[in-house]
Amino acid sequence: MTKGASVQTSSRKPKLGQHFLASEAAALRIVEALGDISEATVLEIGPGRGAITDLLAGKARRLIAVELDRVLSAQLRMKFSMQPNVEIIEGDILTIELDTVFGAKPGSLRTGLNFAPEPARVVGNLPYYITSDILLRLLEYHRYFSTIVIMVQKEVADRLAASAGSRDYGLLSATAQLYGRIEQLFTLPPAAFAPPPKVHSSVVRITIRPRLESLRVPEAAFIQFLKLCFGQKRKTLWNNLKTAYDEDALRAAMAKSGVKPAIRAEALPLERTAALFRALGDGSS
Ligand code: SAM
Repeated sequence: MTKGASVQTSSRKPKLGQHFLASEAAALRIVEALGDISEATVLEIGPGRGAITDLLAGKARRLIAVELDRVLSAQLRMKFSMQPNVEIIEGDILTIELDTVFGAKPGSLRTGLNFAPEPARVVGNLPYYITSDILLRLLEYHRYFSTIVIMVQKEVADRLAASAGSRDYGLLSATAQLYGRIEQLFTLPPAAFAPPPKVHSSVVRITIRPRLESLRVPEAAFIQFLKLCFGQKRKTLWNNLKTAYDEDALRAAMAKSGVKPAIRAEALPLERTAALFRALGDGSS
């Protein structure tokens, strides 16, 4: 790709977060982070000009790449037209029907009771303006995925991988860690992209391993509870929760689960937050 061309695209479509990976070594490391994909279905988010797609197409059993930019997706479709394992979808990763793409197909033999499709792997140098939305959507549909390898802004990677009690731990960390193991793999400078973004970028791997069962919490209600706990960043857990719970019940649940009212949600590991949730819910902790 020529530098001039990438700048032109970027100035035409600044909103699509188009910073193309210019480092082949980095593209290779990203693909390697997915593990052996020779028997896997891979979903690529925002293939752009194909820096990662080229490598995936030669290795994956099946590659589904979703690109919002009409011109880029048409170019990719042309480029991979002779490769039957590659499907380019022009679409928005935030609205595309993942159930249709990855779910059991009605009417096919695969809908049998024992049908358990091999979960897909996800990869992408994400458009940074919608990183959180994409991530939350992938986590919502985690049943279809086993491994997610994504390039995100370094600050987001720091937050995703942060431990409770550290400066970077927050709602995004707690939510992501509820669904999987997070590893921050490597960091790239702006110069690794064309045009260069203003920020450093990190590659993160999420190995899907939901903890809902071991924490004994129901998914939707606990996610809501986390949102409430982290509602106002500077407030204590007590102040955030008392907007939704009776104060006597809250006091009793905190005592039962050993959570101090003056603590902030940022300081509480998921196990403790789950214990508080359970104590509030049905009296069992
Ligand atoms: N993968 C390419 C690379 O590494 O060079 C491009 C990465 S670029 C940071 C992000 C890509 O996501 C762009 O190609 C952009 O057009 C695409 N994109 C932006 N918003 C999108 C969306 N909502 N759904 C799918 N693709 C999107």
